[in-house]
Amino acid sequence: MEGGKWAKDQYMGQRWLSTPSSFCVQTPNPSLNSCTKVKDLIHEKRKEWNEGIYSVKTAYYLKELRKIDLLGESSEQNGQEKNWKRIWKLKIPVITKNFLWKAGNNLLATRKNLLSKRIVEDAWCPICLQEEETVMHVLWQCHATNDVWSEAIKAVQKWRVGEGDLLGLLEELVKKLTQAKMEETIAIMRGLWLRRNTFVFENKLLSHNNVIRAAIDSLEEYQTTNVQMTENRSRAEGLDQKWKPPNVNCLKANWDAALDVKLRRVGLGVIIRNNKGEVMATGCDSKSYVEQPAIAEGWALSKAMELCKDLSFNRVILEGDA
Ligand SMILES: [Zn+2]
Repeated sequence: MEGGKWAKDQYMGQRWLSTPSSFCVQTPNPSLNSCTKVKDLIHEKRKEWNEGIYSVKTAYYLKELRKIDLLGESSEQNGQEKNWKRIWKLKIPVITKNFLWKAGNNLLATRKNLLSKRIVEDAWCPICLQEEETVMHVLWQCHATNDVWSEAIKAVQKWRVGEGDLLGLLEELVKKLTQAKMEETIAIMRGLWLRRNTFVFENKLLSHNNVIRAAIDSLEEYQTTNVQMTENRSRAEGLDQKWKPPNVNCLKANWDAALDVKLRRVGLGVIIRNNKGEVMATGCDSKSYVEQPAIAEGWALSKAMELCKDLSFNRVILEGDA
């Protein structure tokens, strides 16, 4: 229905149905595989189902990143693989890793990249109007980033490694920074890209303090919540284990909850898979006024059980996150 309400609305995640468990469409999702973690399905910021963001492309990046993660410490690893492996282990949200992966592979929609696809007519940086806008320009070289870097990470102080590409810069940063500083640096890089987008699409240039505060607050919030969730899970399950398929004629439901402590809001995600690891159904929900990680996990379990009941899945192992 072009031009009408239907053209704007997305069917996934909307309250179309009167299904008691979520009011959302429950459906097999072909872009998911047995490696998918439930937390990958929940929007980091909004604590909502990630339909808008978890595209096939994202799945591809995650798959590629996981491939690197699976590489051992063998001598065959080249420098880049080692760097990505270290970055993948950082305690930063998946969406930030995904951003960095795209930036490192020159896949961000900078003016230079848009010009090469003939979408725009020039490549000037929209903020400083002095140089071409490349990934390195936005994240490192633009005059508008000077304040951010000199204020944010004293250790970085913009030593001018940055004449090359982002991968070269990341290699230097990984060598010189502690893990915590590396995490902050990457969070701020994403903050700089978000600031650039806010400038382009909303004509607002956020101050350097604003960029730094938003990036660090969001990182700290993620890390705090993540630690709490991991501790709870480890207590409950003993050891972290790789996902194991259920027996034939049986399904397995995994769930996860992402808690926004400040907003007291939790996003819930459930995946149900068969013995081949194929995704049979996914579901989502969100709840307000939740403060405790244990309560958030409880809601997620309840959601998994309701989903199984709605779909008449009678032989299901309920396992928590995986
Ligand atoms: Zn610039």
